[in-house]
Amino acid sequence: MATIALLAGGFTWTLLEYLLHRFVFHERRLGAELAREHLEHHAKVDWFAPMARKALLAAVILPLLTLLAVPLLGWGAGWTYTSGVVGGWLAYEALHRAIHVWAPRSAYGRFVWKHHLFHHFGDPRRNHGVSSPVWDLVFGTYTRVTTLSVPARAARKLPWLLEGDVVPERLAGTYVGRA
Ligand SMILES: [Zn+2]
Ligand SMILES: [Zn+2]
Repeated sequence: MATIALLAGGFTWTLLEYLLHRFVFHERRLGAELAREHLEHHAKVDWFAPMARKALLAAVILPLLTLLAVPLLGWGAGWTYTSGVVGGWLAYEALHRAIHVWAPRSAYGRFVWKHHLFHHFGDPRRNHGVSSPVWDLVFGTYTRVTTLSVPARAARKLPWLLEGDVVPERLAGTYVGRA
């Protein structure tokens, strides 16, 4: 039961990740202030919203989820479920940063790197999920990315993308800088 509650919490995070990103940060359903820092991240791809702001958001969302989960699942499984959400959230924060500062090292990495960077440089109305494309597929916002075009100005802020002035051969055909 504990494992299922933990996994269900992690899966719930993937939905929250999608809903927050699309409706709160881009469509501004909960006001412009919450979206402001995310749009700054879009403008400067090496800048991230402060962790304190995320902790504040978590301080609102997590008690609400716990209030829903505990009556449904009981205290033990309810808390375990919320822990799964927290685990998913922390893993997402690490993954999102990694996408911006390190080169991908696995097939999953190459997929989510392209998926998220297309959201940045292709179309910000597509690919709102970062850790997976599941909710983009469900809500019809998924774009399959084969070739990614990164503006030269932004490419300079992705330290792993360029070696000198050129895209290294292992990334060629996948990430193509343009002036
Ligand atoms: Zn990003
Ligand atoms: Zn975005």
